[in-house]
Amino acid sequence: MTESTELLTSDIDRVADAIRAGDRFLLTTHENPDGDALGSLLGTHRILEALGKDSVMFLAAKEFPLPVEYRFLPLEEVFHEPPADIADRVVIFLDCGNIDRMPVDFLQNGGNKVINIDHHHDNTRFGSVNLVDVDASCTAEIVYDLSGLLDVQLTPEMANALYVGLVTDTGKFMYENTDARSHRMAAGLIEAGVQVNEIYRRLYEHAPLEKLKLLARALEGISVRDDGRLGVTYISTDDYAATGATEALTEGIIDHLRTIDGTQVAAVVRDQPDNDRAARKVSMRSTDGLVDVSAIARVNGGGGHRRAAGFSTDLEFEEIVAFLIGEIDAQLST
Ligand code: AMP
Ligand code: MN
Ligand code: MN
Repeated sequence: MTESTELLTSDIDRVADAIRAGDRFLLTTHENPDGDALGSLLGTHRILEALGKDSVMFLAAKEFPLPVEYRFLPLEEVFHEPPADIADRVVIFLDCGNIDRMPVDFLQNGGNKVINIDHHHDNTRFGSVNLVDVDASCTAEIVYDLSGLLDVQLTPEMANALYVGLVTDTGKFMYENTDARSHRMAAGLIEAGVQVNEIYRRLYEHAPLEKLKLLARALEGISVRDDGRLGVTYISTDDYAATGATEALTEGIIDHLRTIDGTQVAAVVRDQPDNDRAARKVSMRSTDGLVDVSAIARVNGGGGHRRAAGFSTDLEFEEIVAFLIGEIDAQLST
């Protein structure tokens, strides 16, 4: 066992102990929640309930409606306000690399014991107990390991939730974070009741037509810059208006940009009409792994993984492109 695996073993034991010791929990994740955020949230909630704990899930009202892909997850019980007994609850953050990714006052005021369960390499370890496993393909994989340690028999609902995290964060088992461990987890989840094709269809084959119309405009707007290194497009409020789509239908559009031959970075800039903190969101993917997009995101107050990261900004589209080109070239010239 290497030193870091030993450290992780004690971290996961410490989190399991903290869960065993607690009675009341509040679970949350990051803003603009993705499949791993929501799957880990719901999966952990049901696991805690199976252990006889009082668990509530929290997401700010502004996160709704959720991206259409994830609306089949049974998240009706999610709270939008803190429960009256919040002071007595242990807060568990899932898939959240830093506390500012959940910009909600009562969660930022430091009044609760916090368990931080995540797989981002730039996690700021803001918890009272931190379980940051950068080798896990998704946070759901860490939750899966925890369920084993806590002797919880996975129900089909728990398994489905964790499978959503696994499938979405591994790019359907195709990204470089996919390994034998993620496939072993998939096997375990299938044995616990996941219907693979049903979840696949729910995630990827229930798109409203407006989503494809928005995708068409996003693809139409692609430009390849920086001598072919960067493929980028801009989804503006005009695109939402022309297609009848909302921002919640932008999920996954970036996956099309990463397929362009020869490009090393894919970026989607989108307007955030409902976000009063920043006008635009930038999502980035590093296809060949030579550019660390999380470092680019951090320059602008964002973060993520080396190959998938994002940040919010008030810069205009062309200013963003100029910034990205500067950062990509700086990284590739060193
Ligand atoms: P996205 O492009 O939104 O799909 O996000 C890709 C990855 O970057 C995910 O792991 C996110 O959690 C992370 N990420 C996106 N936006 C931010 C941000 N503003 N701050 C920190 N991490 C982010
Ligand atoms: Mn996430
Ligand atoms: Mn994740």
